[in-house]
Amino acid sequence: MALARLIYVSRMTEECDMESLHKILTVSRRNNLARGITGVLFYDPKFFLQCLEGPVEVVNELYANILLDGRHTRVTLLEYHDTDRRLFGSWAMAFLRLNELTPDMMAQAGCSGRFDPFSLGSEEARNFLVAIVGQRQAQLESQKEK
Ligand code: FAD
Repeated sequence: MALARLIYVSRMTEECDMESLHKILTVSRRNNLARGITGVLFYDPKFFLQCLEGPVEVVNELYANILLDGRHTRVTLLEYHDTDRRLFGSWAMAFLRLNELTPDMMAQAGCSGRFDPFSLGSEEARNFLVAIVGQRQAQLESQKEK
């Protein structure tokens, strides 16, 4: 089956409060699991950086909905590729918030200093997301072992 990987960055609007974030999280996990979408949503009170991967038509349809969502604006496409390999295959949607990452974790993921997701190139954004989700996975595994 043809898969697509799509990465975009956007600016959160004032409409997007904690309750909205919680809804996005709940609805995404429900829908994505049912539709074969995997990925990561990285955010802070100012921006979203999201990777969606899954069947081409499903990714396209979801992105069309996301573009119309008033909880964010300035949606800027960073990457759109067909692929035969998922990078976030075990995550219906990994949610990570900027303040959950220490400066060390950011540096290991290749970002030091002020983080501006709008300045990322496609490869930088992809590598960054892979690195932070890898860190999260390692944290979860070490917690399980304790
Ligand atoms: P519905 O059952 O129609 O709605 C679910 C809930 O969300 C309802 O409570 C409704 O009030 C609320 N809601 C829906 N649309 C809006 C809106 N535009 N503004 C305010 N509240 C709304 N959806 C996914 O399925 N997967 C994702 O990975 C995903 N990522 C997102 C990332 C970002 C940054 C944003 C802003 C939204 C994302 N969404 C995602 C949500 C997406 O834009 C649609 O709202 C959602 O897909 C609609 O799904 P539904 O028809 O099942 O929801």
